[in-house]
Amino acid sequence: MSEDNFFSAITGRSALSAKPFCPSCERDGSDIQEYINMAHAEDVEVDDYIRQEEGTFNHANGHFLCTVCYVKAGMPSSPHGWTCP
Ligand SMILES: [Zn+2]
Repeated sequence: MSEDNFFSAITGRSALSAKPFCPSCERDGSDIQEYINMAHAEDVEVDDYIRQEEGTFNHANGHFLCTVCYVKAGMPSSPHGWTCP
């Protein structure tokens, strides 16, 4: 099974839809309270907020690391900006 198929299987959706999802804690972005709060403060949809503001968001597959998982992962960074694989 390819990695893409694996993630489609556990998320139940195509990788092409690129809905924000944290594969580390297996939560949709719209289920994570801190992002709900930040999106409401900006008066935008949670998914749109993550797509636009979350630095780890991977536009190719929708994966990002929520703040808790990003810290657990050791706060990865790169000169060109780190995105969740
Ligand atoms: Zn997470």
